[in-house]
Amino acid sequence: MGAKENKLGIRGSDTHSILFTDVKVPKENRIGADGFGFTFAMKTLAGGRIGIAAQALGIASGAYELALAYSKQRKAFGTEIMNHQIIQFKLADMATRIEAARLLCLKAAWEKDQHIDYTLSSSMAKVFASETAMWTTTEAVQVHGGYGFVKEYHVERLMRDAKITQIYEGTSEVQRIVISRSILK
Ligand SMILES: Cc1cc2nc3c(=O)[nH]c(=O)nc-3n(C[C@H](O)[C@H](O)[C@H](O)COP(=O)(O)OP(=O)(O)OC[C@H]3O[C@@H](n4cnc5c(N)ncnc54)[C@H](O)[C@@H]3O)c2cc1C
Repeated sequence: MGAKENKLGIRGSDTHSILFTDVKVPKENRIGADGFGFTFAMKTLAGGRIGIAAQALGIASGAYELALAYSKQRKAFGTEIMNHQIIQFKLADMATRIEAARLLCLKAAWEKDQHIDYTLSSSMAKVFASETAMWTTTEAVQVHGGYGFVKEYHVERLMRDAKITQIYEGTSEVQRIVISRSILK
C-alpha cells in the first residue's frame, strides 16, 4: 500500500494508492469472462456514479440547510440577511438545483433497480449533483460571510468535501463524454 494522501477534502476517509508490483493473478481468480473486463469495469462505475451523486446531494443539502438557518439568524443592515432579496435568490436557486439533483439520482437508482440500462441516467445524476454540490457549498460559504471561511463553522468543510465528487468515479468532463456519446449514437 502507498503512503496516505494529504487531501483537500473528505479527510475523514483515508486514501492510499495500491501497488501491484510483480503480481500474478491465476486464471481461476479472474472475475467474469475473458474479453469482458472493460464492460465489467464500466458497469461497476455506472453503479458507483449513483452513489457519488447521492453523496454530492447530501453535501449540497447540508450546506443549503446551514445557509438557510444562518440567514434567519444573522443580522446585517438592520435586518436578518434572509430579508435581502439577493440572499433569498441564492436560497431559491440552491433549493431548486438540489430538488433537480435528487430527482436525477432517484431516476438513476430506479432504473438500476428495474434492470434498465442506467449508463446515461447515472452520468447525468453524477455530473449534475456534483456540480450542484460545488456551487451550493460555495454559495453557502458566501451566505455565512467571513464566518463561512472559518473552521468553527461547518460550511467550509462541505465546500472542500464537494470538490472530490466532480473528480472521482469519473470526472465531470468524462460524464459529459458518456452523456454525449449516448445521445449522439
Ligand atoms: C480521494 C480520491 C479517492 C479515489 N478513489 C479511487 C478508488 O477508490 N478507486 C479508483 O479506481 N480510483 C480512485 N480515485 C481516482 C479517481 O477516480 C481519478 O483521479 C479520476 O477518475 C480522474 O482521473 P485522473 O486523476 O487520472 O485524471 P486525468 O485523467 O489525468 O484527468 C485530468 C483532467 O483531464 C480531463 N480529461 C481526461 N481525459 C479527458 C478526455 N478524454 N476528454 C476531456 N477531458 C479529459 C479530466 O476530466 C481532468 O479534468 C480516487 C481519487 C481521489 C482523489
